[in-house]
Amino acid sequence: MNIPQLDLPRVVIIGGGFAGLKMARKINTKHVQLVLIDQNNFHTFQPLMYQVATAGLEPDSIAYPLRKILKRKKNTHIRMAHVSRINSDKKCLETSIGELSYDYLIIATGAVTNYFGNDKIQELSMPMKTLTESLNLRSLVLQNFEKSLTKTNIEEQDELMNFVIVGAGPTGVELAGALSELKKHILPTDFPDLDIRRMQIHLIEAAPKVLNPMSEKSSLKATKFLKDMGVNVWTSTMVEDYDGTTVKTSKENFKTKTLIWAAGVAADFPKGLEDLELVGGRIPIDEIGRVPGFDNVFAIGDVATHVSEKNPRGLPMLGSVAQQQGEALAKNLKALVQGKATKNFKYKDKGTMATIGRNKAVVDLPRYTFGGFFAWMTWMFVHLMLLVDFRSRLVVLVNWVWSYINFDRGTRLIVRRYNKKTSAT
Ligand SMILES: Cc1cc2nc3c(=O)[nH]c(=O)nc-3n(C[C@H](O)[C@H](O)[C@H](O)COP(=O)(O)OP(=O)(O)OC[C@H]3O[C@@H](n4cnc5c(N)ncnc54)[C@H](O)[C@@H]3O)c2cc1C
Repeated sequence: MNIPQLDLPRVVIIGGGFAGLKMARKINTKHVQLVLIDQNNFHTFQPLMYQVATAGLEPDSIAYPLRKILKRKKNTHIRMAHVSRINSDKKCLETSIGELSYDYLIIATGAVTNYFGNDKIQELSMPMKTLTESLNLRSLVLQNFEKSLTKTNIEEQDELMNFVIVGAGPTGVELAGALSELKKHILPTDFPDLDIRRMQIHLIEAAPKVLNPMSEKSSLKATKFLKDMGVNVWTSTMVEDYDGTTVKTSKENFKTKTLIWAAGVAADFPKGLEDLELVGGRIPIDEIGRVPGFDNVFAIGDVATHVSEKNPRGLPMLGSVAQQQGEALAKNLKALVQGKATKNFKYKDKGTMATIGRNKAVVDLPRYTFGGFFAWMTWMFVHLMLLVDFRSRLVVLVNWVWSYINFDRGTRLIVRRYNKKTSAT
């Protein structure tokens, strides 16, 4: 892989997401050689992907080149590669560009969409877990309306203009809200030949409420916001089948060419750890992030979970958890390399939030819950500050202000056509 052998312990991080990138930025490379491997050459800010999918933001305002972020770090090497196997006996990784040895390994590979074993839905629905997938969704949404124009049959038009979103967590709720705003403010003027009032947005959730992990108050408020915006909310409803046109659920069937799957994620990591007893599909870790049975293998972020008395189900799969774990492990690894004592990881819950649309959001702080305009401003401020660099913050802010004033969405481009499968093989 052409990485120089230094007289320093080599720390290899797999994954430049929230956890891996935070660790890479924070680790002191005076004491270690750092190698960051990711299958992409960029980091994705996943919380704003729904705005890319609904033509609100350009993809490059929420993705950053890893090399740019880490350009000032010495003893640091970045490789764009897919890691396929961890060979812990040989302390070595198998990757798409060759083998790489490590002294310390950090697994920060995150999660992938979970279809709960339903192959047909996997084949025919639209996920939104990567930037590419959100761009696919943007193309498909816009293509659907272009195609609707060519149909004279109302039923066929409706199938193209209807959207069914499965999963009313923050992603599903935010997508439903953004589609509803497209319907209200953009599509009627872009497609005056179509009766956009016919467009239906269905949000389906198996749990009895939307935003299930949030407070009752936030969930009720979000439901009201969604209904006021014309979204059809179906709770306690199971999706049973999809053939490319009809979504069968435990309550009703819906006709749509676009089923968006936001119903869950599952940890994803390279082969080689088959002997581990996983917890809910995630890699178990101790108080500092170490994988049991190994001295030098750690896991952080969505891929890992530390079960304790306080958190019997482990911490949630959230960006804030991943970032805090990355920062803590950077410090602990320095301590380990220097033979000093480590410090157990303690998660600081700063709250959760979701936005539904213009002036509409809900925020749960550890002791306080609020919704509406102030929550929306809070949501925007927090997400702006979480973006990696000043340029992105400025670009996103300008986009948001422009959209707010003009009720506009600037990126309604089908740059790359998406050819969706229409029936299962
Ligand atoms: C649509 C969406 C919205 C979200 N909104 C929020 C939110 O509002 N607030 C919040 O706190 N959290 C949110 N989350 C969750 C949050 O994004 C995740 O918890 C967070 O990204 C986890 O960080 P991570 O570093 O574990 O994984 P990721 O950020 O997913 O990073 C994993 C990295 O590993 C790389 N990788 C994976 N496998 C390999 C391999 N084999 N070889 C090489 N590289 C590999 C990937 O390319 C990726 O860069 C959202 C998630 C999604 C999908």
